[in-house]
Amino acid sequence: MAENTEPSNLEAGDHQSYMEFALSLATISPPKPTNYRVGAVVVDTATNEILATGYTLELPGNTHAEQCCFEKLAKKYSVPSDRLGEVLPDSVILYTTVEPCSQRLSGNLPCVDRILAIGNKIKTVFAGVYEPEKFVSANSSKRKLEAAGIEFVHVAGLEKEILDVATAGHEKSI
Ligand SMILES: [Zn+2]
Repeated sequence: MAENTEPSNLEAGDHQSYMEFALSLATISPPKPTNYRVGAVVVDTATNEILATGYTLELPGNTHAEQCCFEKLAKKYSVPSDRLGEVLPDSVILYTTVEPCSQRLSGNLPCVDRILAIGNKIKTVFAGVYEPEKFVSANSSKRKLEAAGIEFVHVAGLEKEILDVATAGHEKSI
């Protein structure tokens, strides 16, 4: 089991370190052949406070990392998930190791739509890799976010580690 101590000393704007923290969360997710192990962190930009963390399958059901963040925040603020936009601080950013999903084969609400539903409180989405096309082709989350006025930033440098962790439960084709 990986460490899950919340770093208290991450500098605001140190995107690389936040991404490394998100990656450490992803390693806690159970390896499965059918999904990616992803980690996500929600930060209040005014206070640099980590508001929520999440990883794939952290909560019951087929839950994604971003979804876990939002469900935990809804619980923290005692509102239904669809009213999270009303209670979040004015400027939050989301770090996620993998680009938010734009489609879910399970029929669950895609993470990009969960982000868009929160409205203009989420200013920027930082992703460590673009979504691989194994399960969902032509991911359009980046475009959808940008069209809604949400900045999408690729934080480069951890791609190999992120994909190794993401696909740890997948069959390797050798
Ligand atoms: Zn998702």
